[in-house]
Amino acid sequence: MDFLEKAIAQLDGEPKHSVINFYTAVEIFLKAPLVLDHWTLVVADRAFNRQKYEDGDFVSVAFEEACKRLDEALKKPLKASAKIAFDRVRKHRNRMVHFYHSGTTAEEREAIMLEQAQAWFELNRFVTRDWKTEFSPYLREFQWMERSLSARNHYARVKFESLKDDIGAARRAGKLFLTCPTCAMDSCEVQVQYPSIPELTKHKCRVCFHETTKLQIDCPSCGDVDQYLEPATAFECQKCSHRVPEDEIYDLIDQSNYGPDEYMDADTPANCDECQGYHTVCEYRKGYLCTNCLAFHKQTYRCGWCNDPCTDPREDSYTFGCEHCEGHAGWHADD
Ligand SMILES: [Zn+2]
Ligand SMILES: [Zn+2]
Ligand SMILES: [Zn+2]
Ligand SMILES: [Zn+2]
Repeated sequence: MDFLEKAIAQLDGEPKHSVINFYTAVEIFLKAPLVLDHWTLVVADRAFNRQKYEDGDFVSVAFEEACKRLDEALKKPLKASAKIAFDRVRKHRNRMVHFYHSGTTAEEREAIMLEQAQAWFELNRFVTRDWKTEFSPYLREFQWMERSLSARNHYARVKFESLKDDIGAARRAGKLFLTCPTCAMDSCEVQVQYPSIPELTKHKCRVCFHETTKLQIDCPSCGDVDQYLEPATAFECQKCSHRVPEDEIYDLIDQSNYGPDEYMDADTPANCDECQGYHTVCEYRKGYLCTNCLAFHKQTYRCGWCNDPCTDPREDSYTFGCEHCEGHAGWHADD
């Protein structure tokens, strides 16, 4: 993991060192399933001296042999695409270590980045899918690394390439994909959550996992209908630049129609249990919409202690209160 983290950190500034550290990690990960099965599987010569193995005084199997043993000893061969990707990085690494290798022209740098991106992709698959159980303590870290890599253009391109068929099939089945604002691939899937509210959409990128919700609104100034609001931000019309600050979004979206005497019984403004927003939920299309996180709620409930409307039914709210009050127990704790 140390080598991998170093390799990520060096990707932009020191591509040469990045390749060397990355390949070191690849070898370790390739050999780990062998060691888990039996320590002798990583020893190259056939002397099999346990003491020497424990002292680190042995020659470990080289890349080709490690691949062969994954196949023949463990019956779980490395995928052909992974082997090709790792082998490219291995050769590159060897040139860098054993010969003078400048590797600094823009073109060469570009090649290194792409080659490494491919190998990252394969390593991620090797660890998190093929040998998931064996590497279970590292899955979280891999997830985190994949996320951080996916926002980078090279890795995103490789990953998009691998998802292309799935995305194509989803498109043919009627799903809509837009260009992702984070990784710039055409992999951001748009989903309508409630058929009765087509203007409220979830956007989820299959490459970099970027996620957001958007609410289509008509610009209150120029009336343009192709404008969108995102969670916890001000609204700015892309056409006329009209701006609605964050603290006025509630009034912009709210569709309630209370008379002056009805405020005490009104269901809104309610507190949002998705984002813990205080008085952020307004009435919207026969339901309730949080003007902060854009979560839609079908109904509201009331806190048993402070009587504020909220979006989750809470057990024991009389006793323990809600996010915004301390409840009976808290109130009496002061006595
Ligand atoms: Zn993305
Ligand atoms: Zn406008
Ligand atoms: Zn919310
Ligand atoms: Zn309360």
